[in-house]
Amino acid sequence: MSTRGVAILGSTGSIGTTALRVLARQRERFHVAALTAFANAALLEEQAAQTRAPYVGLVSPEGGVGSWARGASCLVEASTRDDVDIVLNAVVGSAGLDATLAALGAGKRVALANKETLVMGGELVARAARAGGGELVPVDSEHSAILQCLAGRSGGDVRRLVITASGGPFRDWSRERIERATVDDALQHPTWRMGRKITIDSATLANKALEVIEAHYLFGVPYERIEVVVHPQSVVHSFVEFVDGSVIAQMGVPSMELPVLYALTHPERVHDAGVPPYDPTELSPLTFERVRWEDFPALQLGVEAGRRGGAQPAVYNAANEQAVASFLDGRIPFGGISRAIASALEALRGAPGDTLDALRAADQAARAHVKEIAGC
Ligand code: NAD
Ligand code: MG
Repeated sequence: MSTRGVAILGSTGSIGTTALRVLARQRERFHVAALTAFANAALLEEQAAQTRAPYVGLVSPEGGVGSWARGASCLVEASTRDDVDIVLNAVVGSAGLDATLAALGAGKRVALANKETLVMGGELVARAARAGGGELVPVDSEHSAILQCLAGRSGGDVRRLVITASGGPFRDWSRERIERATVDDALQHPTWRMGRKITIDSATLANKALEVIEAHYLFGVPYERIEVVVHPQSVVHSFVEFVDGSVIAQMGVPSMELPVLYALTHPERVHDAGVPPYDPTELSPLTFERVRWEDFPALQLGVEAGRRGGAQPAVYNAANEQAVASFLDGRIPFGGISRAIASALEALRGAPGDTLDALRAADQAARAHVKEIAGC
């Protein structure tokens, strides 16, 4: 039996390295056909040697091996190769959008970790999938959970999606203390080890707003039927409530290995997943709390941007990316992230978002707006 070729975009990151661990146990089903990274040429070189990937791309011009492809175009190149069946998009930020569009247009399966792609260009991505025959399968644990709970049922059977949120490191902090949180405080996620950007998003709860928008586009469920509940143990990965009142949850130890593997094998399941067994008594008790909407304004702003549509989700995403970078650089306080996002959304209220060019312009304008606030 021939194995399926996987391109890993962002192979040196948290999801990328998790995927390589998962794929090392799945050699009978998959081979690594392409690897790309932004920098960290030393790790990429190690990965290239271990996987013998025929295509290796490095965005940064510095370091690495002479035969590698260079520059931002390597993401699209890797995604559209004939020997690639599945593109695992594990790039962080809106830089992953072109590759998602190109892969879907070329009829590939896109295993999507790069949620910013769907937030920025949800309609365009859905259109590219329809036109090119490609397929979008989520890697995000909450959306993988929803996909598994749906088990092929259509949106018409769904009453509500309930997305769980760990609540992040500031779940039980006062609003005043959150305002002054340091970079070190914000990088201490209680249940997940992830890249820096998503870790900060998990502290502001902007990550949950991105996930609400992601769920809207992936499953076609209107915003008023998507809810968020805080679940500090991160064991229930999300719930689906059906029209008859039945509620189905998908559970497991907090690990990205299973969602990454499932995005590759969906709808099949494999025997040798290597996922640690789930012991309900050990992970007990499971608790659920209401979201403190007023103390985590980035969540509300994102959901509202999603509801408004047009360029607003792209503005939200870009403003958040820039504000997180400015916070990590020490230019704005933690509380300044949501204020910068709110200001960008307000300034770009009427910006059009019906074409890729319009979305890119909105993305750039939002970044420029936040840079000015941050004094960059
Ligand atoms: P990370 O920062 O650890 O890794 C990002 C990867 O993308 C790296 O390989 C980096 O070299 C590459 N990259 C960064 N900027 C790039 C650019 N401009 N062009 C090309 N490549 C670039 O991030 P991560 O935590 O692995 O997250 C990746 C994506 O997956 C994000 O969208 C995140 O929201 C999503 N996600 C992550 C987790 C997790 O557990 N880490 C869970 C769910 C979803
Ligand atoms: Mg998630």
